[in-house]
Amino acid sequence: MPEYTLPKTYDFESTEQRIYDWWSENGYFRPINDPNLPGFDPSRKPYVISIPPPNVTGELHLGHAMFVSMEDLMIRYHRMKGVPTLWVPGTDHAGIATQLQVEKALAREGKTREQIGREEFLTRTWAWKEKYGGIITQQIRRLGASCDWQRERFTLDDGLSVAVREAFVRLYEKGLIYRGPRLINWSPGLRTAVSDLEVEYSEEPGTLYFFKYLIAGSPGEYIPVATTRPETILGDTAVAVHPEDRRYQAYIGQNVIVPILEREIPVIADEYVDREFGGGALKVTPGHDPNDYAIAQRHNLQIISILDEAARVNANGGPYEGQDRFEARENLWEDMRTAGLTIKEESYTLNVPRSQRGGEIVEPMISTQWFVDIQPLADAALEAVRDGRIKIVPERFTKVYYNWLENIEDWCISRQLWWGHRIPVWYCTDCAKMTVSRDDPAACSHCGGKNIEQDPDVLDTWFSSGLWPFSTLGWPEDTPDFQYFYPTTMMETGYDILFFWVARMIMSGLEFTGEIPFDTVYLHGLIRDEGGRKMSKTYGNVIDPLTVMEEMGTDALRFTLLVGSTPGNDMNLSLKKVEANRNFANKLWNVGRFVTSSISRAPASPQAEPDWTLADSWIWARMQNLVNDVERLFQNYQYGEAGRQIYDFFWGDFADWYIEIAKLQLDEGSDRAYYTASTIAKVLDISLRLLHPFTPFVTEELWGHLQHACKEHDLNIYPAGNWPSALIIAPWPEPRRPEGWEGGRLADFSLIQDIVRAIRNLRAEKGVKPGHRIPAILVSEGKGAVLSNQYKALAALAQLDVEQLSITDHLTTKPERHIGLVVGPVEVYLPLTGLVDQVEERARLEKDLAEIKSQIERLETLLGGAFAEKAPPAVVRKEQEKLDTYIVTAEKLRSQLDALESS
Ligand SMILES: [Zn+2]
Repeated sequence: MPEYTLPKTYDFESTEQRIYDWWSENGYFRPINDPNLPGFDPSRKPYVISIPPPNVTGELHLGHAMFVSMEDLMIRYHRMKGVPTLWVPGTDHAGIATQLQVEKALAREGKTREQIGREEFLTRTWAWKEKYGGIITQQIRRLGASCDWQRERFTLDDGLSVAVREAFVRLYEKGLIYRGPRLINWSPGLRTAVSDLEVEYSEEPGTLYFFKYLIAGSPGEYIPVATTRPETILGDTAVAVHPEDRRYQAYIGQNVIVPILEREIPVIADEYVDREFGGGALKVTPGHDPNDYAIAQRHNLQIISILDEAARVNANGGPYEGQDRFEARENLWEDMRTAGLTIKEESYTLNVPRSQRGGEIVEPMISTQWFVDIQPLADAALEAVRDGRIKIVPERFTKVYYNWLENIEDWCISRQLWWGHRIPVWYCTDCAKMTVSRDDPAACSHCGGKNIEQDPDVLDTWFSSGLWPFSTLGWPEDTPDFQYFYPTTMMETGYDILFFWVARMIMSGLEFTGEIPFDTVYLHGLIRDEGGRKMSKTYGNVIDPLTVMEEMGTDALRFTLLVGSTPGNDMNLSLKKVEANRNFANKLWNVGRFVTSSISRAPASPQAEPDWTLADSWIWARMQNLVNDVERLFQNYQYGEAGRQIYDFFWGDFADWYIEIAKLQLDEGSDRAYYTASTIAKVLDISLRLLHPFTPFVTEELWGHLQHACKEHDLNIYPAGNWPSALIIAPWPEPRRPEGWEGGRLADFSLIQDIVRAIRNLRAEKGVKPGHRIPAILVSEGKGAVLSNQYKALAALAQLDVEQLSITDHLTTKPERHIGLVVGPVEVYLPLTGLVDQVEERARLEKDLAEIKSQIERLETLLGGAFAEKAPPAVVRKEQEKLDTYIVTAEKLRSQLDALESS
C-alpha cells in the first residue's frame, strides 16, 4: 500500500472556504434537536447563544472577531459534547450609524434627507442595506462562525417589527411609557436626542466668566456669579446661594436682574450650591443644565428653553435670536462688558460633553420625548442577578451592574431619525387624543376621526435590540423555537455594552416573557495594541482582522484572540503573536504529516497484546491530565488558559518529547511499531478534538486526513472503526478517572526528561556541536532499571553514543577527567574529552578572547581621552558599563582556557 502523504505545508487559503462550505452543506450548524422537525425530544436541554447583532452596514473589526471567536468556541464545545446547540445570527439596523451613511451619500449628490422626503429616504436606506448589509455577515462566516444561518434575523424585519410594536404597546398599556418634556442630551448636528451612554466627556481648555447679577431696587449692589457658558444667562430663572453663606443671606428672597434681557428672577437658597466655586453664587438655567433642572424641580422654578434644534438662540433670547450658541456667547458677553456688568475672565478646564457619533458638543435641552418609566423594570433586573438566576462572569461586573441599575433614570426612547421602528402612536387633529396600536389604525380610537397622523420619531435602536434574545425566536408568538430555545443560555459580549444592551435585554426579557433571557453573561475585554493603547484611526494602530486572516489564516487570528483573553480584561494584540500562532498551525500540520505517514508504514495488525513503553504510558497519562484540566478550565470560563495548556502539551510533550521517542519505537517494527502508531494516532486525534473550538479549520482538515489514513490502513484506534463523519460533530474527549499507575510513570519519565535537559544544557554551555554523540556514565541505585529500559531514548534525546553509554547501580571511584551532574537520584558523568574537541574549543575561545580584548582596548582609549569630559555623563556611563562587561567576559574566557589546559 502506498504511503499516505499530506501536502508539505498547510494551505489555509484553499482550505478555509472549502471546509466552511462543507460544514454548511452538511447541516452541521443546525441544532441536532430541532423542535420543527420530526423526532424532536423536548426533554433535552439546549445550549443557545444569540449573537450580538453587528451594525448591518458595518465592517468587520477586531471587536467582532473577538466575540465571534469566543461564541464559536462555546458553541463548538457544546456541540461536540452532544448538546443541541443553536447560535442565532443577525444584524442590527443601527439607527443613527446607518442613517448617517445614507445622509453622507446624499450630501455627495448635494441633497439632504429633508429635500427628498421620508419615503424616498427610506427607500434609499433599504437599498443601502441590501447592497452592504451582507458584507458583515460574510465576514463573520469567514471567521468560522458556526451559526444557524437559516435562522438569521434583522432588527427591522417583519417579525421583529411585530415584537417591537407589541413591546411598546404593552408598556404603554401598563402605564410604563409616557410622553413629556424633559431635559435630555441633544445633538444639534444629528438633530436628535442621544442617550447618556452616547455622550463622551473630554477635558478641554475653556474660560470661566465672572459677572454681576444686579439686585433689583438696590442700585450698585450685586451678586458676583461665574459661568462657563455665558449664553445660558438668557435662560436663567434664578440665582441660588447656600443657605448658610453669610455674604448673601440678606439677598435671599429678593430679585436680581438678568443682564441685557432685564427680566427679574429670584434669589433662592439651596444646599446644592458650592460656596467655594466662583463667587459662591450659582446662576440657575433649568432648560440647559441637568443640575439646575433638579434645583428648578425643588423650587418650582420656571424653565426657559433658549435654543432651537440646531442650537441657535430662539425667541426667548431677545436680541440674540437666530444666532448660533457660540456666536451668542461672544455677542452677549461683549454687550455685558459695554454695560459694565462683567468682572473678569479666567482660564478654566472644562469637562465637555460630546456626541459619541457626531463629535459635536451635546446641549442639555428640554424636549418632548417618549420615556420608559424604568424603575419597575430595573428592580426586576436587579433581583434576577441578586438572587443568582443570572450569573455575570467575571463576577466583579456584578457590582457595576447593580450600581448602574440602582441609579438609573427614565429611558428616553424616541429619536428624531427616520431609519428605525417608527413610534406606534397616532395623534388625532379632531379630538387631540393619542391612539397607540399594534396595527396601523385607519381612524382615531377615541372619536373615530380620520385625521390622524403617526408620530414622526423612531425608537432608540436599543429598544429593539433589547428584545433580541426572544424576538429572534418568534416572540410574541409562542413558536416551537421560542418554547424550546428560550430562555437562551449564554450572553457573550464586550463589557463596554453591559448597560447599553445587556441590562436592557434583562429588563425587557423579564418584563415581556416573565423569564430571564439567558442564565449567564460572559463579558470579554477590549482589544488594544501591543503597547496597551486603544486602537484608533488617529493613532494609526488599527489592526484589520481581514488583512490578518488573509496573511496568516483565520485559525492563527482566532487562537491569538482566544488564548490572549481572560474574562473581563482588556488584551494587547500584536501581529507577532498571530505569527507565532500561524507557526503553531504549521506545527500541527507537520506533526499530522508525520503521524499519517507513520500509520501507513506501521505493520497492519499486532501479534500480541500491547506491551506499553514508559513513554507510551507517560504521554497517555499526560493526555488524560490535559483532558481533565481543559474540562475544569472550560467549566470556569478560563478558555485562554485551556488553550495555552493544549498548546504546551502539543508542542512540548507530544511533538518535542514523545514523537522523538516514537521514531525509535517505530523503527523497531512489528508490534512495537503498530502500538506506537496507534498511540500517536490517538494522541493526535484527541489533541485535534480539544483544539477544534479554537482553530476549527486546520483541525478539521487534518483530522480528515488522520481518519483517512487510519481507515486505509485498518488501524483500529476506534472499536469497529467507529469514526464520526466530521470533527465538528465528533465527541468531546471526556475526562477519565486515573487508574492508579499514572503517578509512577509520570515521575519516571520526568526523571528521564531531567537527565536529558541537564545533559543538553551542559552541551550548550560547552558549545558541543549538535549531532556530535558523546559517551556517558549514568549511576543510580534506585532507578537503574528505569534508565536501562530507556537507554535508547536517553541516547537519542541527549545525543549520547549508545556504544559508550554505561548504566550502573554504583561506582566505587569517581571517574577522572569527567564532569559530574546530579539529577535527583541519578549521577551523570560525561568525559571532558568527549564533551569538547580540545583543539577546536581552544581555537574558539582564543578567537572570542581576542575580539573582546580589542573591544576593551578601544573603550579604554575612548574613556581615557576627551570623550569622557565632553560627552553627556549618561553616554559616558553607558560606555563604562560596556567596558566593565567586557572585562568580566574576558576573565571567564581566560578561566575556561585554563580549565582546558589542565584537563
Ligand atoms: Zn380623535
